[in-house]
Amino acid sequence: MIRTRFAPSPTGYLHIGGLRTALYSYLFARKSKGEFLLRIEDTDQERFVEGAIENLIDTLNWFDLTYEEGPYKKDPTNPKSEILQKGDYGPYIQSQRTEIHKEHVAQLLASGNTYRCFCTKERLDEMRQKQTELKQAPMYDRRCLDLPQSEIEAKIANGETYVIRQKMPYETIKFKDLIRGNVQFDGKIIDDQVLMKSDGFPTYHLANVVDDHLMKITHVIRGEEWLSSTPKHIALYKAFGWQPPEFAHLPLLLNADRSKLSKRQGDVSVEEYIKKGYLKEAILNFAAFLGWNPGAGEENEIFTLKELEEAFSLEKVHKAG
Ligand code: GLU
Repeated sequence: MIRTRFAPSPTGYLHIGGLRTALYSYLFARKSKGEFLLRIEDTDQERFVEGAIENLIDTLNWFDLTYEEGPYKKDPTNPKSEILQKGDYGPYIQSQRTEIHKEHVAQLLASGNTYRCFCTKERLDEMRQKQTELKQAPMYDRRCLDLPQSEIEAKIANGETYVIRQKMPYETIKFKDLIRGNVQFDGKIIDDQVLMKSDGFPTYHLANVVDDHLMKITHVIRGEEWLSSTPKHIALYKAFGWQPPEFAHLPLLLNADRSKLSKRQGDVSVEEYIKKGYLKEAILNFAAFLGWNPGAGEENEIFTLKELEEAFSLEKVHKAG
């Protein structure tokens, strides 16, 4: 059973690129008679915007991008409606999954795939500054990698705070992306990222991998800006002893001058298009054709959602931004 998800962070508005990611994930699931779910990635509480989850739900509803599992509004017409959740793999709001994430980090600590890092912000800043001066890529220098157990215990007893870092394997990490083909990264130049912050909250990387696995996601369809995170994720799947899902990274959306599509150069928020009076069918067609087309011989230029479901395939998604 194919299972895809849309996993936005609730930052306040839905970017047209986010709508395209949601649409392609939806179409891919529907075409293969699979399931599509919504998961809110709100581990970064500092970026949390009031009403953002409601807004994401409303926008997906407006476009009829239905999902089998995830948060939904009890009363869809009420902007302040209570949010309920449906599905067997919940909760689907990441900040409600902290205990699950903590258990999984503990598991990795026990298996030696992660380590506690007590370095202070001052030391890390100094280290990065030196690396930058030497024209090296800023990377944690693994000072805390092999701390003796007695020292770790003494530091904890002393009230020192720590983060938990992933021990990146120093090997080549390869995977086959369904759009980009064979991709490989050298593990040696990938930072030992933080998986658990000093306040005990997980970071995006940890939560994303654990939740995709526990929610039985088979295909991760997301923007190309996440491609460089994928080797970290694959290393995490391996550390847990899990089979990674398939990955499909969608091309970046660029302005005509090939700069990254941003608010400054025009409308990027889906709500803006809706407010201006564009029809949902028009916006969906526009989003569908940003990086995909049904191929030669197809005369139709206006597709309903149902027609898109039939015509869509990941093979026809472009590689170039
Ligand atoms: N929360 C990430 C975002 O905001 C999701 C990345 C992913 O789909 O894995 O885009």
